[in-house]
Amino acid sequence: MDGPPREMPDLELALLRRGVDELVAELERCRHCHRTPLVGERVYLYAGGTLLCELCRPFEQEPPAVSRLVHGPEFGHTMRLSDRRAAV
Ligand SMILES: [Zn+2]
Repeated sequence: MDGPPREMPDLELALLRRGVDELVAELERCRHCHRTPLVGERVYLYAGGTLLCELCRPFEQEPPAVSRLVHGPEFGHTMRLSDRRAAV
């Protein structure tokens, strides 16, 4: 018996979340030019996890597995907060 799972302290949870955010940021970088694609830019994901930006897409021979737009995870939230402050 391992006993009941212990609850995770806030700090530990925050560190874990930060780690995930950094991992995502790393994956969002273009494999070819190592540039972080801009918000609203289209990026292309290939089988095997390669990510290329719009500019570098022609360098890859294979067709991309999926393409998607880059969106800022924090940006919308920050905007909403500043909007509320402006309204008060
Ligand atoms: Zn690129």
